[in-house]
Amino acid sequence: VPKKNPIVVADGITRTFGGFTAVNVDHVEIPANAITALIGPNGAGKTTFFNLLTGFDKPNEGRWTFLGEQQYGVPAHKVARRGMVRTFQLTKALNLLSVIDNMLLGAPQRPGERFLTSLIPSTWRAREEELTAKADDLLKKFKLDAKREDFAGALSGGQRKLLEMARALMSDPKMVMLDEPMAGVNPALTQSLLGHILALKEEGMTVLFVEHDMHVVREIADWVIVMAEGKVVAEGSPDTVMDDPAVVEAYLGA
Ligand code: ADP
Repeated sequence: VPKKNPIVVADGITRTFGGFTAVNVDHVEIPANAITALIGPNGAGKTTFFNLLTGFDKPNEGRWTFLGEQQYGVPAHKVARRGMVRTFQLTKALNLLSVIDNMLLGAPQRPGERFLTSLIPSTWRAREEELTAKADDLLKKFKLDAKREDFAGALSGGQRKLLEMARALMSDPKMVMLDEPMAGVNPALTQSLLGHILALKEEGMTVLFVEHDMHVVREIADWVIVMAEGKVVAEGSPDTVMDDPAVVEAYLGA
């Protein structure tokens, strides 16, 4: 049951933009080895909260631990090395790279390495081979191996989501944060994506995801955190939270 064994414990996190408070989280815990959905209306602060936890943005105030270690002020690349990674929607630049190159860019610390292969010592080449093998394993697992050499930009919406997820796994994370994993995915791939997310949990990972589709939340989440106007306004099991008329009416749009 969630709460017993939190992987993240956060207190007093605020982030303002100008005079506007985007995040104002008093206290929240993310249960370990579980799937937690972060839901709430547009502008609630969900993305900003993701950015803060992963070191891509800095709060005005606040502190939080990941796996018991203080993580305030730790930069994003070190956060990733500690085992907390977030997915990013594929940008235009990444569209112009092949699927396999996108995977290699997901590996910790070594962006661009593949392009320097001819210049680098053999130890680096061994590392590159190891990473390539790992990338190929993941592509196979996510059924993207046939697309290995294609431009990422040529993938379907669902395949892009699979690639975003596969790429995040290049760094062997302990916690994966997924930004709207179902957005733009056609129904044929939905079940497959849900299966992959459930499999992450079975492999011992913690998953935190932002999602607007409440059917998806009910289907895979063990725990739900509702944000509105920067605050955590409700949390609990999917049934408790999503069947609470006050929550539905106020925040989820009945
Ligand atoms: P959500 O992901 O829940 O839709 P966001 O975290 O994206 O919400 O945004 C929360 C609020 O903070 C929004 O009102 C948004 O306009 C504002 N905001 C987010 N990032 C910035 C920024 N870099 N500059 C100014 N305002 C921002």
